[in-house]
Amino acid sequence: MSVAVYPGSFDPVTLGHYDIIKRASAIFDHVVIGVLNNTSKIPLFSLEERVNMLKDAVSSIDNVSVESFDGLLIDFLKEKNTNVIIRGLRALTDFDLEMQMAQSNRMVAKDVDTVFLSTSLEYSYLSSSIVKEYARYGVDLKNFVPECVTSKLIDKMNKL
Ligand code: ADP
Repeated sequence: MSVAVYPGSFDPVTLGHYDIIKRASAIFDHVVIGVLNNTSKIPLFSLEERVNMLKDAVSSIDNVSVESFDGLLIDFLKEKNTNVIIRGLRALTDFDLEMQMAQSNRMVAKDVDTVFLSTSLEYSYLSSSIVKEYARYGVDLKNFVPECVTSKLIDKMNKL
């Protein structure tokens, strides 16, 4: 069975992430979304909130599961019995960092490969940061995040 891990912060999940998840789920038998408990970034949503929003968003895709992890991605890959990482690429600005991460992962775990899926054009501008900015100023979020995320994002912004 081919398994791949799609890691990220997902703070919150956007339609750009969802598009990558959907396409990856058509390529691999199983996709594990790994939500990073990143101690160097302060997220807007807690780890549990991010995991739950993702679970809600992907509930109709049979071969996708959502888990959190902390520590090294390569250790999470081992735990999931896979050596394949999925990442999305939006623009040249993503490329440097993504390349650096893919290569450093291979330095420590030689059999690990990163599969890059290029963004669908309609989501090439979309990021979790932009979505949070839009939410702050009351922009309609329907073209940016899964429906289950909209009210949670608005609530969170109102509480800031
Ligand atoms: P990280 O903090 O690890 O970059 P993100 O949640 O921001 O996590 O993104 C996870 C992955 O999804 C990254 O590979 C990122 O490039 C990709 N991604 C984010 N937004 C989009 C988008 N609109 N289209 C395609 N890929 C995307």
